[in-house]
Amino acid sequence: MSWRADILTLFPEAFPGPLGLSLAGRALNEGRWALQATDIRTFAQDRHRSVDDTPAGGGPGMVMRADVLARAIDAVSPEGDPRPRLLMSPRGAPLTQGKVREFAAGPGVLVACGRFEGIDQRVIEARALEEVSIGDYVLSGGEIAAMALIDACVRLIPGVMGNALSGTEESFSSGLLEYPQYTRPQLFEGRAIPDVLISGDHGRVAAWRRDEAERLTRERRPDLYEIYRRGRA
Ligand code: SAH
Repeated sequence: MSWRADILTLFPEAFPGPLGLSLAGRALNEGRWALQATDIRTFAQDRHRSVDDTPAGGGPGMVMRADVLARAIDAVSPEGDPRPRLLMSPRGAPLTQGKVREFAAGPGVLVACGRFEGIDQRVIEARALEEVSIGDYVLSGGEIAAMALIDACVRLIPGVMGNALSGTEESFSSGLLEYPQYTRPQLFEGRAIPDVLISGDHGRVAAWRRDEAERLTRERRPDLYEIYRRGRA
């Protein structure tokens, strides 16, 4: 069974979107992973096919109904489905590469995308949805957040990335941001590629890259650097 992402959304036409491009898209066509976007509105039962209503207690905007979303979840992920049930949400735990690794190593994910002011709290509790955030800012819907999560997972699935090694040295896998990369031409607007990188001395190249990764992390992400430093002590 290949890794499978089920997405619940009011805008299924947004998928696969960029997930259908490049290496992820090729892997999708080859069946190395599967993607199914399901329209939540299909599970509306009233005359107007409504999926949202005004917030209890008043206030602006609309809230997605618990019953409609619950039916959608039960249809695509019946009891016993081993996949985590995620809800994209600015209130969720921030997505990290560690979490992505965990999701990618499992059988797949169910991802619910919110719209409007958010989702009735009762379905979050009743279906034990795990809220995941992609950052401290507010999007207008969960679709772009779901794509970010799925893209990060899919590139870790064996056979998706062309060169398996390029997935192991990059930002976060070592706890550090990635070192600067260069390619031809040798001279660009007066700027040369650092000498060490064309020296052919693999030991010196590795040392330079590690030093640069440490420097960049120290300068840009003191929070990550502190964790890295403590891990090495
Ligand atoms: N009123 C809500 C925001 C709703 S935004 C609040 O203040 O918490 C509408 C939908 O966009 C959300 O239900 C969620 O699915 C998605 N969304 C917005 N920002 C997000 C983020 N940073 N990470 C993940 N999903 C997000």
